[in-house]
Amino acid sequence: MYNKMSLNFLSLSENEAFARNVIAMFSLSINPTLNEISDVKTAVSEAVTNAIVHGYPDTVGSIDVEAEIQDDILHIIIRDYGVGINNVEEVLEPFYTTKPEEERSGMGFTIMKNFMDKVTVESKINKGTIVKMTKTFKK
Ligand code: ATP
Ligand code: MG
Repeated sequence: MYNKMSLNFLSLSENEAFARNVIAMFSLSINPTLNEISDVKTAVSEAVTNAIVHGYPDTVGSIDVEAEIQDDILHIIIRDYGVGINNVEEVLEPFYTTKPEEERSGMGFTIMKNFMDKVTVESKINKGTIVKMTKTFKK
C-alpha cells in the first residue's frame, strides 16, 4: 500500500499540536500500536518545535511537513526555510543546545533518534533545515 500527504503551515507554536496530530491520523492506515503512534507524535513534535523556535527565532516563517507510507514503513520530512544549522554533527549530540537560557535541554534530536528508526538532518545557513525520519511499524 502506498499513500502520501503534505502540509504547510506558519511557525506558530499552536501549529505543533496540529502537525503532530495530522501525522498520527495519517499513520493509522498502517495499523500502528499505541506505542508506535506515541513515538511518531513525540518525534514530529520535537522536529516541528525545533523548526518553530530555532529555525525562525525572530520571524514567522513557513514549515512543510510531508509523510509517505510504503507498506509498513512511514517516512516523514520536516522542512523550514529559516536560519539553518552551522554544524549538524554537533547539534545531534545529546544535551547540545543553543538556547540554555530558555531551559531547553538539548535532547530533541536524541529523542527523535530513539523513537524513530532513522533520522537524518540536512541544513544550510540562511536557507533552512530538512529533517527526515523513518519508522518501520511491526506486523
Ligand atoms: P530541546 O529539544 O531539548 O528543548 P533543543 O531544541 O536545544 O532542546 P535539540 O532539539 O536537540 O535541542 O536541537 C539542538 C540544537 O540544534 C538547537 O539548540 C539548535 O541550535 C539547533 N537546531 C535544531 N533544529 C533547528 C532548526 N530547524 N533550525 C536551526 N537550528 C536548529
Ligand atoms: Mg529541540
